[in-house]
Amino acid sequence: MKDAKELKEALFYTKKSVYEAADGDEIDRAFAFAKGYAAYLDEAKTEREAVKAAVRLAEQNGFRPYTMGQTLAAGDKYYFNNRGKNLYLFTVGTENIENGIRISAAHIDSPRLDLKQCPVYEDGGMAFFKTHYYGGIRKYQWVTVPLALHGVIVKADGSTAEVCIGEDENDPVFYINDLLPHLGHDTDQKPLGEAIPGEKLNVLVGNRPYEGDESDAVKLNVLALLNEKYGVTEADFLTAEISAVPALKARDIGFDRALIGAYGHDDRVCAYPALLSMFEDPAPTHTLMCVLADKEEIGSEGSTGMKCDVFLDLVNEIAVALGGDPAVVRAHSKCLSADVSAAFDPNFADAFEKRNTPLLAGGVVLTKYTGARGKSGTNDANAEYIGWLRGVMDKENVVWQAGELGKVDQGGGGTVAKFMAGHNVETVDLGVPVISMHAPYEVIAKVDLYEAFRAFCAFCRA
Ligand code: MN
Ligand code: MN
Repeated sequence: MKDAKELKEALFYTKKSVYEAADGDEIDRAFAFAKGYAAYLDEAKTEREAVKAAVRLAEQNGFRPYTMGQTLAAGDKYYFNNRGKNLYLFTVGTENIENGIRISAAHIDSPRLDLKQCPVYEDGGMAFFKTHYYGGIRKYQWVTVPLALHGVIVKADGSTAEVCIGEDENDPVFYINDLLPHLGHDTDQKPLGEAIPGEKLNVLVGNRPYEGDESDAVKLNVLALLNEKYGVTEADFLTAEISAVPALKARDIGFDRALIGAYGHDDRVCAYPALLSMFEDPAPTHTLMCVLADKEEIGSEGSTGMKCDVFLDLVNEIAVALGGDPAVVRAHSKCLSADVSAAFDPNFADAFEKRNTPLLAGGVVLTKYTGARGKSGTNDANAEYIGWLRGVMDKENVVWQAGELGKVDQGGGGTVAKFMAGHNVETVDLGVPVISMHAPYEVIAKVDLYEAFRAFCAFCRA
């Protein structure tokens, strides 16, 4: 008979944290890598800003703008900026394009409060902006948080004013009122999801009246200030896209500084390492592509979301320019749908199934399926592909864990994976575990971010 302890070691699967599995140098590299990420977070709170920041980094690394129809050769590095909200980067590999493209696809939109098209009003001596929330939020979390306004206003003459107020130390910030506990008796009886209805998420933007006017003087003063700064009128909001996002910078969390708190980890914590993995190898064997998609939080819709045909068009263009058949290229391509997963939270242990939930600092998460209620709406990746990826990550000692989004029938979610897989591209979800996902301030572990970066690099090389 074999020794039970030895047999256990040989047969049992034991999950190791990054701190157990990696050496001190790698932990140091992870903490250093996190600094660049925190800077990216503060620069890129909306998809437009995330594209701008990514383009700047791409250009610094030799990427140039791509125009559909142009010729391509091995070693070429291009980016395609889709309407300023969705970015495709690709590096042409040395091998036959029909061997497929290695694609990492993350999203750069995050839950937030978008201004309505007629947002401005005055009530009780205060001026407010009406909002319609974007993506899945727990509405009670967004009151009494300092907010910044980001976006664009397209004016009657067709020119565009870019808005970013609340990020500079000297800027004012904005705010959503909540009821004081002294008068909270009625709201305290309500379920959490009903205490703050969507129409109560009105952003406080002013209190000082314009001199000499009797009615709507506070609103008038706000519009006068906006007119002075941006040259806009109330009607210009009809053609604006402005979002209220938390006016909070990324900060280290904890005495040991092991975690980062920030707005919008979902999904910049995957977008950033996926993007940086494109800069590692100037002459890759496979053609590499990184997608930074918009609109994931509302179903990947629209001309900047992952459902848009621009992805197919680009793959077609690249295939044809390199003498390949687009269908063959897609059939042999591999994709990492780079998105976050929910980390086990002991404070809400009931929502998770401990054996299959990723742990903070447990490494990058490989998620076979997302979806809800019997895997509805998921890609459910093929075991053969996951097996291949397991080999790729194990070869480079990437610390990874399997994940599932919470307990069966507790809820669920989706990613861009199913849209990629629908194009006949092998796809699986891979990303970073997050605490308090979709909250105004989310938490991730620096070591998980770094293992994600190492996973994308290993995938590009494999
Ligand atoms: Mn996401
Ligand atoms: Mn999300």
